[in-house]
Amino acid sequence: MVSLTLQKVFSVIDRDLNSSIKLLKDFVAQPSVCATGEGVRDMAHMLGEVLKELGFNVSYHETPTKAPIIHAVLKGKGEKTLMFYNHYDVQPPDPLSEWESPPFEPVVRDGKLFGRGVNDNKGNIVARIAALKAVTEVFGESPLTVRFVIEGDEECSSRGFSGFIDECREELRADGCIWESGYVDKDGRLQMYAGMKGILYVELVARGAERDLHSSMGTIIPNPAWRLVWALSTIKGPDEKVLIEGFYDDVADPAPEDIRALEEVPFDEEFLKDLTGVKEFTKKATGLQLKIEHFFKPTATIDGLVSGYIGEGSKTVLPSRAVAKLDFRLVPNQDPHDIFEKLRQHLARHGFSDIEVKLLGAEHPGKSPINSEIAEVAAKAAERVYEKPPVLLPMTAGSGPFYHVANKLGVPTISAGIGYYDSKAHAPNENIRIEDFRKGIKHMAAVICMFAESRVS
Ligand SMILES: [Zn+2]
Repeated sequence: MVSLTLQKVFSVIDRDLNSSIKLLKDFVAQPSVCATGEGVRDMAHMLGEVLKELGFNVSYHETPTKAPIIHAVLKGKGEKTLMFYNHYDVQPPDPLSEWESPPFEPVVRDGKLFGRGVNDNKGNIVARIAALKAVTEVFGESPLTVRFVIEGDEECSSRGFSGFIDECREELRADGCIWESGYVDKDGRLQMYAGMKGILYVELVARGAERDLHSSMGTIIPNPAWRLVWALSTIKGPDEKVLIEGFYDDVADPAPEDIRALEEVPFDEEFLKDLTGVKEFTKKATGLQLKIEHFFKPTATIDGLVSGYIGEGSKTVLPSRAVAKLDFRLVPNQDPHDIFEKLRQHLARHGFSDIEVKLLGAEHPGKSPINSEIAEVAAKAAERVYEKPPVLLPMTAGSGPFYHVANKLGVPTISAGIGYYDSKAHAPNENIRIEDFRKGIKHMAAVICMFAESRVS
């Protein structure tokens, strides 16, 4: 029965595909760059109006940024509530000269739609709206309650999102959540993930003399570049182990179902080596161990290191200052603020309390069970629409505000989306394939129908 009704829903989606593309083009043509604040309020308003027309009860929550968070609810027939997390902000379009067509003038070429935000994340917002439209047309109403949480600062580390979750947690109940994005890989399989790493981003500053000096003074004046290098060398050893005391204390081992899922995840090691030009991976890891390292182990990465003279030729100078930027990708159940404290104590304990440690960013790792009801429904729905089983990633190596929904609110969460392996999110010529967009809408419609009935098999 579900099957027959779904067929009807799918034909409505096909019939309306052009108007869905038109809505996406309208959204993309409205810049909404969180880095500068350009257009974010207009975008929030435009999106809120579209949701109101669909019958949603829409509220705007102000944040410390210019971009309000949209919370929209459409009451449905069944008992269940499905949440969609999305974001309407986009990355800056720079470098403009590398775009083949202007970033905010969306255009279709060769079956692909180009423009900033077509994939990340406006295409996903529109796919969910289009799916819901088709489902309500066929059913007469939504078979479950739909709750959209759409923020406007995701690309600027979601400032204000955690405050919103704290403030509204009572209203944000849901039985499952579909996270913002996902993509189809080279084999036509939809990649979905059930967790994201956290991150701690810091800057270390070592200071010496008040100004740069002649390097002959290196006999008697301390050199901050050496201080910084010595300090950094205490943070991680050549065996890749992070040496901050207590760094690994809260690291959770992957669950047996996570390991089972990881075993199924395709990971082309030779392709990745060719792509990056490296001969072997760190710790010489390979196979399942490599996947565990990549998805379930924390990192300490020097992102940049600056001091003294690095121009052409030589300049004998004793620098007055040295700066390093570092990020730590964190895994469940590490806490970025706790790791920050441990880093400070570590440096002090090793005699580097003169080095200033600035906190530039912190996000908790987030994790939902890979076998939650919503994950299983979304996987079944994907298999049906894409005609291939999806790739289920228990975690991604990247970071995002997943924790606030999956862990703070405790709503089981899985990602899905309309991108593909060459969607170029954050880069020039961001694009989606129209066929993926069509399938992505159908996938969301199937999730809505199947989750309402909890029909897992
Ligand atoms: Zn993004």
